[in-house]
Parts: sequence; structure tokens; C-alpha cells
Amino acid sequence: MDEFYKEPLSKGAVKYYEKVRDLIQYCNYDQSYDGSEVIWLWGQQAELGEVLADNKVPDKYIDEVASHMSCNGCGCEDFDRYSTIGLIDLIDKEVQDKIEKANKKYKKHIEKLLEYINSYPSLALNNPVAKAIHKEISNSKVPECTIENVTVYRCRMPEGNKTFSFKEIHAPEVGISNAGRYNHFGQSVLYVSSYPETAVTEVSGESKGDIKIWMQKYTIKKIGKILDLTSDWEGFLKLSTIFTAIINNRILEQTSPGNTSTWKPEYLFTIFISDCAKSCGYNGIKYPAIKGVGENYVFFDPLNKEIVPAEPPPTHRFQIQS
Ligand SMILES: [Zn+2]
Repeated sequence: MDEFYKEPLSKGAVKYYEKVRDLIQYCNYDQSYDGSEVIWLWGQQAELGEVLADNKVPDKYIDEVASHMSCNGCGCEDFDRYSTIGLIDLIDKEVQDKIEKANKKYKKHIEKLLEYINSYPSLALNNPVAKAIHKEISNSKVPECTIENVTVYRCRMPEGNKTFSFKEIHAPEVGISNAGRYNHFGQSVLYVSSYPETAVTEVSGESKGDIKIWMQKYTIKKIGKILDLTSDWEGFLKLSTIFTAIINNRILEQTSPGNTSTWKPEYLFTIFISDCAKSCGYNGIKYPAIKGVGENYVFFDPLNKEIVPAEPPPTHRFQIQS
């Protein structure tokens, strides 16, 4: 008989098998090895027979069900009740459940809010989800951070042979700027990036190849009460349900094709968040960079004395990938 041949599942075992068939996330073959010794990296280690018993598979069916299981990681099908398997990590499971719950509860409502805010930007607070967001920010339910001794960067594209001063690279004064991700038309705020490369991509637009660019480096000595809208995977567990849905669905990172239009609906929601933050006493927002790595920051007061420029702004050459 073919060694891979398996007897079909008996009628009694089928319903138990259906419940547990996706349980094995990883197996021995997905791990790392030091010689013949397995170094367990992936999944919560467990013995298959025990996991099946925990999942209410009667003992008389465990051998049969185990032999029909396969691994989601590598597809292998070589299991018995004594096999060591990797279950989904508890934290991963918790995060996945949270995201699923958040999407179920808020995803559609957030889409409705985006439509509403598109038509009536200044009436956003009429929308129940917008109201809830404002309430969470005002009750300090959203993570915040202090930025201390952090180096950040800001760039400007060259204009011929003109030498830019610090003032010309720094935040435009009131009445100069276009609407930005976290500012209304003409408001003066300072945007900076945590990495020089990200600061370059923020201004380089369609430019490609070797470009000379003006770059101002700053040290942020200490600025507290910064709304933190970045989150790593485990960070979702610290977020409220609404902000889990917002950040997981990348609502803060919307873009629109072509940037010549003065109508920027992709910024209306983030500008609303920034109004909420500012009105609740926050000094700025930390948010995920869209075009590069790391984070960006917006500071609501560009003249804050804790923002210390390295003088004078030098030019740098950068290679912009297409
Ligand atoms: Zn496997």
C-alpha cells in the first residue's frame, strides 16, 4: 500500500476534524535547526493530542483526526497525537480578534464619516463616530508620547543656485502653506521626519535619480503631549476599538493621484483629528510616514523653543529611486 494513503475519516470523526482542521499553524519543519536540534521560533508549542483533547475531540477519534491534519505553515501532513505543533501565538490571536472586532463595529461607519466630512468638513462633529473620536482624544484614551532628544529632518527642493536660509526651510509662516495632512490651508505647522530619506521623499514628488536637496536637521529637546497615531502589531492591544479600525485600515494614510488640485479630500479626516488634538491641548502628532520609513511628526507651534535647528542647513545629494 502507498505509504501516503490514508483511510478516509470515519463518519464519527468528520465533525470533529472539521472543527480543528486549521489549528496547526506551524510544525517542526517550519522551525530553525542547530544540527539536528530544533530551535522553536514559530507558534505556541504544544502536543497535538492534547490540543485536540482541549478542543473536545473524544479520545477514540484523536489518532484518526491527528493523522488527517495538515500544517498551515508548510502543508506537511505527517502528524500523530504525539507530534509537536505550533499554535497561533496568543498575542497574535488577541490582536487578530481585536482587529476583527474593530472592523466589524466601525469600518462601515468610518467610511460613512469620510463621505460626510467630504461634504461638510466643518460639521464633522455631527457624525457619531467623529464625536466618539473627539471624546476619546479629549479623555486621553489615545496613546500619547513625549519626544525627547530626537533628531528629525525637513527638506526643500532646490531652486536654481539659490541658497536657502533656515527660515526658508522651516515651517512657512501663517498664510503661506497649502492644506496639509494635519493643517488647514494657510495654517503654520512644522512637519518633520524621523529619517533623512523619508524627509527627502516627502518633498521630491516625481523627481528621480541623483538630486541635490536642502536639508535641515533639528534636535527636539523635549516636547510632551504628542498624540501618537503610530502602532506596531502588539500596539493595537493598547488602542481603543475605534482607533484600531482607523489605524489598521490606514485611514490616516489616504492619498490621491496627482497633487495639483487644491481640493484635498484625503486630508479632511486627518485635519479633523489635528483640530481635536489641538483643541485638547496636544502639542503635535506622531504619525506613520506614508512615502518612506519611520514616523513623521507635526508640531502645532513651529516656534517652540524646544525645536532646535542645527545651523546652517546644508545641501545633500540623494539618489531617488523610481
Ligand atoms: Zn509546517
